[in-house]
Amino acid sequence: MTTEYTRAYWEKALAETTPKGGIYIDGKLTRAETGLTFTRIRPMDGKPGAEIARGGQADVDRAVASARKAFATGLWRKKDPSEKKKVMVRWAELIRKNADELALLETIDTGKPVMASLNVDARLAADCIQYYAEMCDKLYDEIAPTGPNDRALVRKVPLGVIGAITPWNYPMIIETWKLGPALAAGNSVVLKPAEQSSLTAIRLAELASEAGLPDGVFNVITGYGEEVGKALALHMDVDMIAFTGSTEVGKLIMGYAAQTNLKRVALELGGKSPLVVFADANLDAAASAVAWGCFYNSGETCHASTRLLAERGIVDALVAKIKDVTDREITLAHPLDPSTQIGALIEDAHLGKVLGMVDAGLREGAKRAFGGERVMAETGGYYVSPGVFIAPSNEASLARQEIFGPILTVIPFDTEEEAVRLANDTIYGLAGAVFTSDMSRAHRVSEDIQAGTVWINTYDMSTFATPFGGFKQSGFGRDRSVHAIDKYCDYKTIWQRFL
Ligand code: NAD
Repeated sequence: MTTEYTRAYWEKALAETTPKGGIYIDGKLTRAETGLTFTRIRPMDGKPGAEIARGGQADVDRAVASARKAFATGLWRKKDPSEKKKVMVRWAELIRKNADELALLETIDTGKPVMASLNVDARLAADCIQYYAEMCDKLYDEIAPTGPNDRALVRKVPLGVIGAITPWNYPMIIETWKLGPALAAGNSVVLKPAEQSSLTAIRLAELASEAGLPDGVFNVITGYGEEVGKALALHMDVDMIAFTGSTEVGKLIMGYAAQTNLKRVALELGGKSPLVVFADANLDAAASAVAWGCFYNSGETCHASTRLLAERGIVDALVAKIKDVTDREITLAHPLDPSTQIGALIEDAHLGKVLGMVDAGLREGAKRAFGGERVMAETGGYYVSPGVFIAPSNEASLARQEIFGPILTVIPFDTEEEAVRLANDTIYGLAGAVFTSDMSRAHRVSEDIQAGTVWINTYDMSTFATPFGGFKQSGFGRDRSVHAIDKYCDYKTIWQRFL
């Protein structure tokens, strides 16, 4: 029987749900050693959403010890690859089977539309685990060229204990981007989800155990960054930190690694991605790409197309088309309503930060084309309408800072050279795009934009086969694709002499 996803269906599910907020160590859900908890407030209505265990140093020590023990026993690392694949495929299937529950938990934590949590976040989490499951029995090692009396095996071996530290904007998606390749490679993982979004991480761990992942291979410690995240990144028995979050905290993570055991780090950080539109572009396609690229997930997307560089003569026409797409397609409403396209911002403090940045931008001389205001305040939730602002220059704070809200900044340009210069005039290098009907120019500009992904005449297209990550202060290391496996492995040479 297919479910009919109505507002009433989700309201009933919400009323019947008591989310679990414990920490997950050695295959068991437990409390923090201190017994402390904190209350997660629901962004959709400002009401208490869940009580979450506030982990600390002792919990991190226990989780790392459990992960190390699991790695040492080899129950997972040395498992027959086809058996490893079966466990991970079962896990992906369990994520699909429990997708409604996971979607609701994701929406309780993040305020994103529950149908997006279901059809995008939960679906992609399952697909990601399946993608890396399939890799378990398809990766080969190498034999290096040697003389006839020798054999040199070049083995790709797992690193050991991986600390994964993740943000709140796409919790399940980003967590599975790390769990998939790290586990397929044979590592153990201690995951520290963002304190705003713990609920789905805990359920993912329970489902992994149900699928047959041995105890200790995947642990979750909930709590604050300064407490759990820092303790994990400073831990002497963690071999690598796979981090996604702000550039500011990414720099701290590198410092923690340098101060302790030189653990490796991979950093997926912030962005201020340019989308360049030339006058010869298909403006309808460009407007749709900009609006969805910037406003989807309420702009809480690291690679959101937040800087629109538009050839001067088309600025007004393009902004009018963006408004049209936004009004017609990007419905801002209650996250449990199935027709909602964008929901609430993550928390009260973030709402204040986004509105504060808009005010500062206006004081500097930016012009509001539309939106960018608090709406639906009567719900108690944290909603901001999609907004477009024309910046006085690329120096303006609206053009430079990562706002992480549904705010688009428009900067006019006159020449191709200027467009490329402005596109690259940022500390970030996560993504970018160019819209033009001149394919020579499209390829010239896409080569010159310094970013990990550049789209031509589209935005935000990807599959698990395409690597994702940044240049410059957007970090280094790639999530997704077969290349992500390399991050969680090292090469080991085994040289044999034939006697
Ligand atoms: P954040 O940097 O504040 O937090 C990220 C994680 O780090 C959280 O789990 C947090 O608890 C933890 N943390 C905070 N302080 C810490 C410390 N001192 N030591 C160790 N861990 C600590 O980021 P956020 O606000 O959760 O997420 C938004 C940011 O993430 C944005 O900058 C966004 O661009 C970035 N992001 C990047 C990507 C990408 O793939 N490049 C994807 C999503 C989000």
